[in-house]
Amino acid sequence: MASEGDSRIKVAIRVRRLNIKEEARNKSVQWKLSENKLWQIDPRTKQKVSQVYTFDYVFGMSAQSKEIYEALAEPIIESCLQGFNGTIFAYGQTSSGKTYTMMGEKDEEGIIPMSVNHIFKVVESIPTREFLIRVAYMEIYNEQIHDLLEPKNSNLKIHEDSSGQAYVTLKEEIADTPEKVIAVMKKGEKMRRFGVTDINERSSRSHTIFRIVIESRKKQMNDSFEEFTWDDSVQISVLNLVDLAGSERVMQTKATGDRFKEGCAINKSLFYLGNVISQLSEGSGQYVNFRDSKLTRILRTSLGGNAHTAIICTITPASVEETISTLSFASRAICIKNEPHVNEIISNESLMRGHAAIVKKLEMELEKARKEIDSSSMKRELEQKEKIISRLKGWIQRDKVQVNSPQNISRSQRRKTWAASDFKRMANCFRVNDQSSIPEDPKEN
Ligand code: ADP
Ligand code: MG
Repeated sequence: MASEGDSRIKVAIRVRRLNIKEEARNKSVQWKLSENKLWQIDPRTKQKVSQVYTFDYVFGMSAQSKEIYEALAEPIIESCLQGFNGTIFAYGQTSSGKTYTMMGEKDEEGIIPMSVNHIFKVVESIPTREFLIRVAYMEIYNEQIHDLLEPKNSNLKIHEDSSGQAYVTLKEEIADTPEKVIAVMKKGEKMRRFGVTDINERSSRSHTIFRIVIESRKKQMNDSFEEFTWDDSVQISVLNLVDLAGSERVMQTKATGDRFKEGCAINKSLFYLGNVISQLSEGSGQYVNFRDSKLTRILRTSLGGNAHTAIICTITPASVEETISTLSFASRAICIKNEPHVNEIISNESLMRGHAAIVKKLEMELEKARKEIDSSSMKRELEQKEKIISRLKGWIQRDKVQVNSPQNISRSQRRKTWAASDFKRMANCFRVNDQSSIPEDPKEN
């Protein structure tokens, strides 16, 4: 598990296979790797022609996403479950495998679904804590923020809390199973913007951030072992799973019109991200231009701040220029130190928020339980109850008519003193009601 002392941003490189198009064009593999190192080669002589780049991990063409998950992502997920913030993001040129790595495809599960499954596995294995999981999904498209779970929430503003931390108000869904989280993610995915470019036919044109908020608190039995009591402090951690749009050269994509405009916005925000990474890697407390773009404002905590961060840089083995640019970005990112700490909140406001969320969760559980109750037994019970109600209504109606008729007024006044036994019988009927049997009319006895 990542800890407070282990705070440097972790960086891995993933080299994808040559794709069909590249093979058809007889493209050569320009990069060679060994262990956690990578260098450019002359494809004919296989000789090294560049510096050697060193990272935390370098994954070759045959590596599975699972290996990347275990090496890089799992420690971050584990630390999130201990109250730290975490961020995992994929960076690289268009078509290098960012979405494949983060989301996965039919043949291979991605980092996001693996993370979600792991979170719930750990949650189930800790009976001494109560967890609440909330998810939200946003995209940054042409420098505008949209809520992927609530399409009418578009062009959202970034706010800042009292500590200067940036946040966006998004629709959140509470999830109690990994399946629910994945379903929410898929629902959001459908709202994502894709375009057709020459490089990648399903190239994503926006940056997306899938946010998982994990709240937890310690629970224990009270002294009489009858009910749970909860610890006052609530741990809250935010996990950002980011799939960036890819950098691209307009010449190469032959983009025009809207695609050209999107490309410019994507390149601009990636340029600002590169700038921030560069400034942070130089350290020495210099001013960092987080405010230049929405992406860097939102990722502020993840870059040099209160979070554990891992970056997976995906590269295309046939590219040289773009790969060198990605490796320079990665080489700078690996120097950045974050300052993660456990987020434990005991203020009234946060606790109240925690309670509200737990009430919401309980409501969901109740709703689920309602649906699960065997419908036929429920129907029978309802019919029984309806009979009871109509019988009671009948008595009330009859009594009303009797009470309202002038000849009964004096009788109803007398009833105040002499009807005690009737009420006693009526009370008995209601006791019988609890067991769902039809009460007898007290007057019939
Ligand atoms: P990006 O998100 O970086 O633009 P994608 O993830 O969409 O790129 O990948 C582009 C194409 O390459 C997709 O068709 C995807 O299936 C394929 N691909 C990417 N990485 C791999 C990989 N590691 N193994 C197999 N296919 C891959
Ligand atoms: Mg993509």
